[in-house]
Amino acid sequence: MAGGGTKAWRFARPTNPALAAAGERSIQRYLLQLHACLDERGPRPVIPLSHGDPSSSPSFRTAPEAEEAVVAAVRSGEYNGYSSPATALPARRAVSEYLSRDLPYKLSHDDIFLTCGGTQAIETVMSVFGQPGVNILLPKPGYPKHEAHAIFHRMEVRHYDLVPERGWEVDLEAVEALADENTVAILITNPNNPCGSVYTHEHLAKIADIASKLGILVIADEVYGHLVYGSTSFVPMGVFGEIVPVITLGAISKRWAVPGWRLGWIATCDPKGVLRKTKVTDSLRSFVNLISDPATFLQGAIPHIMKNTNDEFFSNIVRLLKETADICYGEINEIKCITCPYKPEGSFFMMVKLDVSQLSDISDDVDFCSKLVKEESVILLPGKALGMEHWLRITFATEPPTLKQGLERLKSFCLRHQSQAN
Ligand SMILES: *Cc1c(COP(=O)(O)O)cnc(C)c1O
Repeated sequence: MAGGGTKAWRFARPTNPALAAAGERSIQRYLLQLHACLDERGPRPVIPLSHGDPSSSPSFRTAPEAEEAVVAAVRSGEYNGYSSPATALPARRAVSEYLSRDLPYKLSHDDIFLTCGGTQAIETVMSVFGQPGVNILLPKPGYPKHEAHAIFHRMEVRHYDLVPERGWEVDLEAVEALADENTVAILITNPNNPCGSVYTHEHLAKIADIASKLGILVIADEVYGHLVYGSTSFVPMGVFGEIVPVITLGAISKRWAVPGWRLGWIATCDPKGVLRKTKVTDSLRSFVNLISDPATFLQGAIPHIMKNTNDEFFSNIVRLLKETADICYGEINEIKCITCPYKPEGSFFMMVKLDVSQLSDISDDVDFCSKLVKEESVILLPGKALGMEHWLRITFATEPPTLKQGLERLKSFCLRHQSQAN
């Protein structure tokens, strides 16, 4: 139509500027760029060692008990309506019992808020605390969605370092120096994505003490809870709920390898009732009432998923992760330009340091990953996506033969690009 290009659309004004800022913190953005570099006609299959979804590997298929619970819930015909107390209450009770097994006190269903995956749990806590002037302490390296949602909700983000030489522990002195009267919380991820670290009881106790001293709460992202296979066992932050109020974020996404099912939760681990007295619990409830609940048939299935899943399923997954972490660590140690400061003991990631000075024609981690995709059809996540330039994140939750092949290709890529001086 003539003149169509000059029509003055009333909505043609800047949209929410916080969206653009939040969008910068997206793993997806980097992965899309890398996929664009792929030579799809290449002779070899693509090996993605970049993302946190192992569900496509046959060895990581979820427990049959979990699949059966979902099928039974759908077939019952009882879960076709909107969520109601009749569907939500048993689900919340099941999650409270599941979490209470590892705590020195009992959670009740009132402590549990159901969410669509861990992502919505993050969105919820950031919405509740987010307002201009407030700041939150986040780890570096970190999980980008923490930062994206904090920024989107107009919070100031202050990064504390995780220290690679100390098993990626929290730099506790930095935490004290960063916090001020406008700090509301410190967020920790344990077991850790992207570092594969697992915090000891002792380290968590120190975090609790510092948070308590500063008068801030601890938000514990425990989406990888129980996925540990090293010398440190998993201790939920809620164990320290008497010292400091803890808000725990969880999901079935990773432990049951069903990230597409979108079932997560928020748990207030607060035996002294501080969050209730300060009305944080009311705000959580208000926000959760605004958003949509997880699908009701999953709410119906969750008590059975949590009760019936065979221990063997969990131990097989953990055994497999130990094996693939070993393979990954071993192979990386044979590559000169890449070093791994810490052998993972939990989750399914490891952070490795890239020394580009040993390579002839690679400028940084993003350049490294782009060329690796083009030449070897192997996808790694550049550390820049996680706030760590010159680092790489490797996911090892895949079939051992595929992982070995991917690491072989990585090794030959590094050899081919090694500078002559080395
Ligand atoms: C995957 C992940 C989440 C998000 O969980 P979903 O259930 O997939 O939405 C949250 N935190 C961390 C650290 C994760 O790796």
